[in-house]
Amino acid sequence: MKKKYRFFLNPYRNMAFTKCPKCDGKTKVRKFCLMIHCGPPKPRPGQRIQLLSLNKSCKFCPYCELIIAKKAELEEVLQPMFSQMGIPFSAENYFVMGTMSREDWKQNQKEPLEIKEAIKRIAVFRDVWDFEVRPAGWYFEDEN
Ligand SMILES: [Zn+2]
Repeated sequence: MKKKYRFFLNPYRNMAFTKCPKCDGKTKVRKFCLMIHCGPPKPRPGQRIQLLSLNKSCKFCPYCELIIAKKAELEEVLQPMFSQMGIPFSAENYFVMGTMSREDWKQNQKEPLEIKEAIKRIAVFRDVWDFEVRPAGWYFEDEN
């Protein structure tokens, strides 16, 4: 499988990440076609799995090739889609697996690709990063 970009699902509602949490460089706003795996991570036979593509504005650090998407914004869009597909919505029932190029995405909108073909065109993330943000202040050591 092709691999491209790194990904961070930003769980902080009040953190915009105008700077990259890794290299401290300025982030840009860029639209990406995110590929989202919907359904339980380990499906039982007969359970439904769907691949969704979502064209979404994200923060992007060109130096780290890091895409930062806001979790709350993503879930706002995903929730109604899940109920349409008849899949119960929970944070465990989806994950962002990679991106698709704009050209492939447009083609898929015109004429949906077969799932096998679609999977071939997905670039999965090289890495998924997680960052913990701590409010400024004092912390007692034993508070951990
Ligand atoms: Zn960076």
